[in-house]
Amino acid sequence: MYSDAHIKMLISEDQLKTRVREMAEQLTRDYQEKELVVVAILKGALVFCSDLIRHIALPLEMEVLGVSSYTSGTETTGEVRLSFDLTKPLAGKHLLLVEDIVDTGLTVDFLINTFQARKPASIRICALLQKPARKRVHVPIDYVGFVVEDHFLVGYGLDYAERYRNLPFIGALKVV
Ligand code: 5GP
Repeated sequence: MYSDAHIKMLISEDQLKTRVREMAEQLTRDYQEKELVVVAILKGALVFCSDLIRHIALPLEMEVLGVSSYTSGTETTGEVRLSFDLTKPLAGKHLLLVEDIVDTGLTVDFLINTFQARKPASIRICALLQKPARKRVHVPIDYVGFVVEDHFLVGYGLDYAERYRNLPFIGALKVV
């Protein structure tokens, strides 16, 4: 059990639904006639990605990818590693990496560098949230759901110590 007393709702369930559908419609237009592989980055992007793909009206493959960014508390140390790799070759395919949130940009930067070596036809990034205030490296984010301020966010896949992923909205957590 937990109390939601310290979570302030920032993006409602309805706002998420509307925006996710718009993003999927854009992706449907952009990936016509292309061999699309949608990659959900575990665990945070799982909820977003599962809603997103259900509105992409194209044949596609879905993969999952495990990435660990070492953290101390709510802060990233900047080190990233692959903890679970894709199961299929990427050569010639159009890769769409789906992230929950781009914060410092280090995770996405690492993934672009890692996957470029596998010679996909293209790599694009689709992030539900982007927190520009904390950017440390510049990475092009092709599709962004919402630009957010510098709060620690939970819900709709995002956790704090593995909790709150199942909240249907995005909220700011106040750690007390
Ligand atoms: P980056 O490498 O861009 O700094 O961070 C990417 C990862 O850090 C995200 O995929 C997410 O797992 C985690 N992260 C960054 N900001 C937040 C946040 O506000 N809340 C949560 N729960 N995770 C975050």
